[in-house]
Amino acid sequence: MKHINFKNKIALVRVDFNVPLTQSLTVSDNTRIVAALPTIKQILNSGGACVLMSHLGRPKGEKSDKLSLKNILPELESQLKQKVAFVDDCIGIDVKHKVANLKAGEILLLENLRFYPEEKKGDIAFAKELAGIGVDFYINDAFGTAHRAHASTSVIAQFFDKEKRSFGLLMSAEVENANKVLKSAEHPFTAILGGAKVSDKIEIIKNLIPVADNIIIGGGMAYTFYKAQGGNIGNSLCEEDKLDLANELIEIAEQNNTKIILPTDSVCADNFSNDANTKLANSNEIEDGFMGLDIGEKAINTFSEVISNSKTILWNGPMGVFEMSSFQKGTKSIAMAVAKATKNGAFSLIGGGDSVAAIKKFDLQDKVSYVSTGGGAMLEFFEGKELPGIAAI
Ligand code: AMP
Repeated sequence: MKHINFKNKIALVRVDFNVPLTQSLTVSDNTRIVAALPTIKQILNSGGACVLMSHLGRPKGEKSDKLSLKNILPELESQLKQKVAFVDDCIGIDVKHKVANLKAGEILLLENLRFYPEEKKGDIAFAKELAGIGVDFYINDAFGTAHRAHASTSVIAQFFDKEKRSFGLLMSAEVENANKVLKSAEHPFTAILGGAKVSDKIEIIKNLIPVADNIIIGGGMAYTFYKAQGGNIGNSLCEEDKLDLANELIEIAEQNNTKIILPTDSVCADNFSNDANTKLANSNEIEDGFMGLDIGEKAINTFSEVISNSKTILWNGPMGVFEMSSFQKGTKSIAMAVAKATKNGAFSLIGGGDSVAAIKKFDLQDKVSYVSTGGGAMLEFFEGKELPGIAAI
């Protein structure tokens, strides 16, 4: 996109404005809107006009006021510091008319793409209609939906010549940063994986083993590994059907000379609640009636040391139930260790929903190298899958 001259041209930009709304239908988290601003501004500043299209929520192919993109207009206008026109459809004669009247420097926002079931189905005729509303370029800046083969995220690209389609600046940044980790990491490279389930992270672990030096595993998923190795994990989270796989992953890691590092100790609770009785225990010696809800002091120290010696760090998934104050220390300490390593020159990428929420909760998002906007998309990228939104461009 940096090489495109937008002067007196109109760009159709697929953004990800799928933002959370409050009860009164105002934007409660504007991160995705802010992330789309550089692309929009670059098009306008180089003399072009923008038509913005996005989905919002899950309208299941039906119109609904609650999921109208009209609801995000005030926040978008306030961020852009300019008026944005709105049209209550995304295809059709009215849309074409408004696009034809757009002047350089102007912005038009289309209505929620998913009011049409064809969007999610990746319908070719619908994609062709979108492409035919009277624009010169197609820019995909919606990294958050790049893992979907929808009409507006990938199918539409075929209706624009190669030089008429491009990634937006956000999409480029996401891809460049993810590749920095996957394809050209400086070593030692440490991946920190956490969260509830092993089953969600199997493909990522498999894909990272050949490229990472250390894989730190925390959160609920660590206990399946301990159980697989013969430990007692009390009432901690465990996926019984993944025990063999856990051992297999440990074996593949050994063959690749990649260290899998588990939390030696855990903060254990007699209840899944913030005011439960707690005690510290070795993670392979947890009493029945107790469950590990956070990593313990020894684990914090070991993990922090490994992180401080790393040149590249990828973090996905919290170390414990960080939403509860009694079990947030592990996640917070690891976030601080990542921030410190970054200050000392490491490259750190935080990707995937809950670790992004955690880094923001502890107000450390500006102290790491890159925080991804794409939860599921970033996970699939790290699983080594080809994302349809990227492939189409
Ligand atoms: P995921 O979506 O798989 O990344 O999991 C994130 C969720 O895992 C968060 O809501 C955490 O509260 C939860 N979690 C992390 N550690 C544990 C644990 N030891 N036991 C139960 N839940 C956990």
